[in-house]
Amino acid sequence: MGAKRESRELVTNGNMIPLARPVLGKEEMEALSRPLSSGWVTQGPEVAAFEAEFASAVRSPHAAAVCNCTAALHLALRAVGVTAGCEVITVSHSFIATANSIVFCGATPVFVDIEAGTYNISPRLIEQAISERTRAILCVHQMGMPCDLSSVLAIARRHGLAVVEDAACAIGSEALLDGTWQRIGRPHGDVACFSFHPRKVVTTGDGGMLTTSVDDWDARVRLWRQHGMSVPDHARHEADRIVIEEYLELGHNYRMTDLQAAVGRAQLSRLSELVHRRRELAGLYDGLLRDVPGLLLPEEPEWARSNWQSYCVRLPDRCDQRKVMEGMLNDGIATRRGIMCAHLEPAFVQGAIDWRQEGSLAESEAALGRSILLPLYPQMSEEDQERVCGALRKACAR
Ligand SMILES: *Cc1c(COP(=O)(O)O)cnc(C)c1O
Repeated sequence: MGAKRESRELVTNGNMIPLARPVLGKEEMEALSRPLSSGWVTQGPEVAAFEAEFASAVRSPHAAAVCNCTAALHLALRAVGVTAGCEVITVSHSFIATANSIVFCGATPVFVDIEAGTYNISPRLIEQAISERTRAILCVHQMGMPCDLSSVLAIARRHGLAVVEDAACAIGSEALLDGTWQRIGRPHGDVACFSFHPRKVVTTGDGGMLTTSVDDWDARVRLWRQHGMSVPDHARHEADRIVIEEYLELGHNYRMTDLQAAVGRAQLSRLSELVHRRRELAGLYDGLLRDVPGLLLPEEPEWARSNWQSYCVRLPDRCDQRKVMEGMLNDGIATRRGIMCAHLEPAFVQGAIDWRQEGSLAESEAALGRSILLPLYPQMSEEDQERVCGALRKACAR
């Protein structure tokens, strides 16, 4: 059942409108032929070029590629000094990897609630969650919508906390900071982490990127992603003498391959176009759905420009979420329920994982139980969007 659902979300199946669909074409196929013909397929020249291009796209001094965003989050937290016994303030209302990355460090996730309209962390709830064990805030730009960074950063500065941005969904999103529009990932906090899973805006199959302006953190992340090895593979192979590597610290195998990076470079060159199209589609949804009684559309604060990685609507109170989703599925439209809440999942409920919540998580639970994600991908036609909206209207009226 799980596998069937996934394929419905990603693949066009006859007349079915999928939830998401990556834009992959001739450019990606040609890009793949470079590592395939050179024979250098793991972390090497393509990864280095992808990192340089990514850093310049988000104007970050450093970008380090890894195998996925979950690995990026783990290394980011390790870099800012999150260790066993620390607490990290975050949201439960996120993909499970956000909370898990804190647990990987032996630290305790402290969940606070979200704001209903943006689905992002509520900055006014952060301060009361701070304890003497708090080391960092892990804020999420959920579904590509920038969170309220200026408020989060001000609180972090006041209390001497690190800020890691879970920007898994937010490549190409922008925030208005110090009077200028800036892409997420500069980073504005201490480290930002991106995902290239196919459900995100650009994809390498699986993949992640970590950006920071701190030289030492970038260097340590590069060490940790490759087993803690003193000499990376490509340097060893290019050397004209025998080089014996050492293993300096506990590391991981979190490398991105050159196959992924080659595809990533082609994807990155499409970024502005992809974001432009997604913003256009979100605007069309707003127009088509504005008059559905009781339906709440997502809010874009005046200081945020989302890449609309997902378009999430809050159903009218009278509607049953599952029935609406089933009704739409019968009309050939894939949807997904609102973003999950880690604190409701068996792994967190069963007691083996140490976590706590500060205050109620009612908005997080309501967003999960009362919202659905609508299909949004660049290849969608006006007719597709009208079909989605027609099916939603019909399912809500039932
Ligand atoms: C997708 C996602 C992740 C995990 O990214 P992977 O690249 O699949 O590891 C983490 N956080 C958020 C908010 C996500 O949406």
